Amino acid sequence: MFGRHVTKFLSAYAHGELSAGETGRVASHLGSCARCREEFEEIKLGIRFAECLPSASAPDSLWDAVESTLARQTASAKRGRVAPLPPTRSRLSFNWPRLASAGTIALLLFIGLAGWLYVRSTRPAWEVERLAGAPSIDSARFGATGRLRVGKWLETDAESRAQVEVANIGQVEVEPNTRVRIVETGLTEHRMELARGTLHARIWAPPRLFFVNTPSAVAADLGCAYTLEVDDAGRSLLRVTSGFVALERGTRESIVPAGAACLTQPGVGPGTPFFEDAPEELAAALSRFDFEAGGAESLGVVLENARARDSLTLWHLLSRVEGAERVRVYERLAAFAPPPEGVTREGVLGLDAAMLGDWKDRLEDDWLHEDLRSVRKAWRKLWK
Ligand SMILES: [Zn+2]
Repeated sequence: MFGRHVTKFLSAYAHGELSAGETGRVASHLGSCARCREEFEEIKLGIRFAECLPSASAPDSLWDAVESTLARQTASAKRGRVAPLPPTRSRLSFNWPRLASAGTIALLLFIGLAGWLYVRSTRPAWEVERLAGAPSIDSARFGATGRLRVGKWLETDAESRAQVEVANIGQVEVEPNTRVRIVETGLTEHRMELARGTLHARIWAPPRLFFVNTPSAVAADLGCAYTLEVDDAGRSLLRVTSGFVALERGTRESIVPAGAACLTQPGVGPGTPFFEDAPEELAAALSRFDFEAGGAESLGVVLENARARDSLTLWHLLSRVEGAERVRVYERLAAFAPPPEGVTREGVLGLDAAMLGDWKDRLEDDWLHEDLRSVRKAWRKLWK
């Protein structure tokens, strides 16, 4: 989307130090650039590693060590004041390094301790509010509010509902008959697992900070609101109400904008996304194509019924079909929205990643609602 890579902004982005405009630009670029995304994952890994270091080495004895080191230093300093000795060459060469190293150790211990306390403070439990009935945390009921810690399950029965505050980045409403837990919460990632049931997420963090694992795919938030439903067979249905969500499993990814939905299935991963106002025939044929080996027949129905806005579906299909079928999809898509400059028929048919990305960036404008389209335009102007 924005020609230039955003590598140098990624660290600040991961730490939430960018302005809203900058954040939007980086987020948007990450959505379409695998290279920068890879780098972002590495940066997040580095930050997480740094988080783990102090948290693994901060026993109570750390305080004792800091205190005794400081006490020793104070004592030797006092001795120095009370009975100043004439500095001789030998004293200088012996004591200065010793004093410096004691100071260094105290400083390092102090930094370690501060880091550990900081990491602890950024890893709190999430607040849960009871909305109806008697939801439970770790099989125990709670009053009006409860605390959900990493690894503990929040469960609702047929009559109960709850609302979870996701760190300080959003809210998740948990519908009846749902089982959900926190997998991870930290500076660089908040991740839940939805084993079954339904949740509604509203997230206002930078994209790719909030994830929901389901049995058949991972939903990565790209700045949005959505509903995610998992049935007993592990299939899920994602419906996006604002922004974008990416559904991922291995290398297979579906980008789902507001107004669109996507099904996922164990063993297959995310299906092809489609707009909820698309013709019924299209949605039904797509489901057959994705999950019932519908093949050329169902693909034909999809192509026949596609409207210009269903370029969302067609673009995703390009990399999910082969040979003559890919040519058919290409031609249908190109008839609705010709590929932008620099994107060739040969490149697309050969699944050139950069060309597919450029075409998607062009198409995204058609997928967005008017309000989001203007926000994007504003970002672009800011960053030209
Ligand atoms: Zn990039």
